[in-house]
Amino acid sequence: MSFYEYNCDDRMYLKSTLMPDSDISHGFTSALGGVSHGKVTGLNLGFRVHDDEASVRENYCLLSSDLGIDLNRTVLAKQTHTDNIRIVTEADCGKGIVRASDIEDTDGLITNIPSIALIVFSADCVPILFFDPSQGVIAAVHSGWRGTVKKISARCVDIMTNTFNCTPKDILVAIGPSIGPCCFEFGSDAPDYFDEKYQEKLPNGRFMINLPHMISDTLTDKGISRKNIDISGVCTVCNSDKYYSYRAHKDHTGRQGAVIMLKG
Ligand SMILES: [Zn+2]
Repeated sequence: MSFYEYNCDDRMYLKSTLMPDSDISHGFTSALGGVSHGKVTGLNLGFRVHDDEASVRENYCLLSSDLGIDLNRTVLAKQTHTDNIRIVTEADCGKGIVRASDIEDTDGLITNIPSIALIVFSADCVPILFFDPSQGVIAAVHSGWRGTVKKISARCVDIMTNTFNCTPKDILVAIGPSIGPCCFEFGSDAPDYFDEKYQEKLPNGRFMINLPHMISDTLTDKGISRKNIDISGVCTVCNSDKYYSYRAHKDHTGRQGAVIMLKG
């Protein structure tokens, strides 16, 4: 398993070899290509940042064409660093993109319905895609440090198991580009939130935190096989020339997306 670049004109996506193209469409977008300009130049997918709506919509049209998703059947959530996960149905199609969304305070989306594309956003937080080829279930999760501490990824596995009859050993997971342990500096209160194996103390009393490692362990604790977890290892801060990064660009950054859809 590994990540590889998938290029469409000047747009670059990361994909995981764990996720079979025969069954699903998926990809982690980057900031490269796209029509947004100014402070969020590139393929910005965030409607709630400093960008004009027409540019964001054009970026979605490019994404739709590149990954083969139907925007009328695409679902976005209003993320707020919760551990709330929505089971997406036909009634949700198009919410957040072609019509208003009532999916508030939600940081994860799950469905077993073909041809519905789920998208979560990030700009340093950890995007996670799930696929169970046995039961035909997909999920997209946004796990910032708060969501990681709340173990939203474990909650996702619980819903896949309890509601959709998934077996953890069948579930495949791709952890996309995010702020890495090289760049995620946390305050002296880190031990209040993180186990010591995910933190490294600095001489100034602050800590470096490894969110992807913590998420990976959370998933294996739920019974997912280590060999079924693909971690990109790409740091959005170190690679802020290619990715939107809240830490690197401050408030004036766009959003990349993690996209997954069951093929019909
Ligand atoms: Zn870094």
